Amino acid sequence: MSHSMQDRAAALLHHRAAGLKKGDPISLPIVPAATFHLPEVAGAAHIYGRNGMATWEAVEDQLALLEDAACVSFPSGMAAISAALFATLKAGSRLIIPADGYYVTRVLSAGFLVPFGVEVVEIATRDYADFDFSGASVVYLETPSNPGLDVMDIAEVSARAHAAGALVIADNTTMTPLLQRPLDLGADLVVAADTKAPAGHSDVLFGHVAGRDAALIGRVRDWRRLSGAVPGPFEAWQVHRGIETLELRLERMCRSAGVIAERLAAHPKVRHLRYPGLASDPSYAISKRQMAGFGFLIGFELDSEVAAEKFLSDCGYIVQSTSFGGTHSSGERRARWGDKVAPGFIRLSVGIEPLEPLWAAMQAALTDF
Ligand SMILES: *Cc1c(COP(=O)(O)O)cnc(C)c1O
Repeated sequence: MSHSMQDRAAALLHHRAAGLKKGDPISLPIVPAATFHLPEVAGAAHIYGRNGMATWEAVEDQLALLEDAACVSFPSGMAAISAALFATLKAGSRLIIPADGYYVTRVLSAGFLVPFGVEVVEIATRDYADFDFSGASVVYLETPSNPGLDVMDIAEVSARAHAAGALVIADNTTMTPLLQRPLDLGADLVVAADTKAPAGHSDVLFGHVAGRDAALIGRVRDWRRLSGAVPGPFEAWQVHRGIETLELRLERMCRSAGVIAERLAAHPKVRHLRYPGLASDPSYAISKRQMAGFGFLIGFELDSEVAAEKFLSDCGYIVQSTSFGGTHSSGERRARWGDKVAPGFIRLSVGIEPLEPLWAAMQAALTDF
């Protein structure tokens, strides 16, 4: 991790301290308030719980430190993505989205944006490199893509999107702002599911939009207030607590993922392994340039649906669940959701278990069939 990111990670742990008065709790209080004392509106720090409240603002302060941008928090990643899309599109707009990215974004676009008159164009992550963005209003990207882990060059795609007059929205969920910084590479807005690694304990949904353009982020904030997609104070507190250990967890997760990817790739039963940090991966060169770490997600194929299901159920240290970024390693066969991947394709999220016991469990599960 770069020095500036280490500085951010350190500052994050002390971000509350500057504002503390003698006797204040060091930990963040949960403020469950819908209404506030309001003898008059002018000068009130808080007005009504849909407009803003202290516990989410504390998370937004943490995220703002990491993103180096204004951040608006949401009750889930999809709420954040919806806000970014509804804040930037109108009838007649053309939206470019990845055909191989997070599938709910595509379902939302087809089910709700198309009926409102938005033209939605789906293209594969690898085709962003030479796609003509003429006429696009928003180029939405996700890299590495979930679940295929294809990588695109954010700076290059953003420059061409801007030249065509489009805004760029980047879903940075798989990387987090500690590992990849789309705003520094030209994206106008970042969206992310903090449900994953930032919250990190598989017990809360949360999301955020980050941006450096005041008007754009103002529209996102308006969307939250008017649509009512506001996080709860307890959920915000959980995320605040999770983010305090994000840098520490990511360090272990990424280091283990690098070793496991290498060992899995060399295993005779494993095929088509994708991990951006392997020198043999087609995305290695771009990944090395634009990411501060290679992440904790690995994609690979076993022979068949049966082999993949057997591996997942036999490995005692892989929780079978959808989602990723938790303290425990987890995995699933993505074809069960209709992703366009081979029946034996597994997306593995490496957790914070010590490496060798985790690898031993995987190796044993691989010899079972
Ligand atoms: C999980 C995920 C989302 C959605 O987040 P939720 O908190 O589940 O709504 C969006 N994008 C990506 C890449 C994801 O992995």
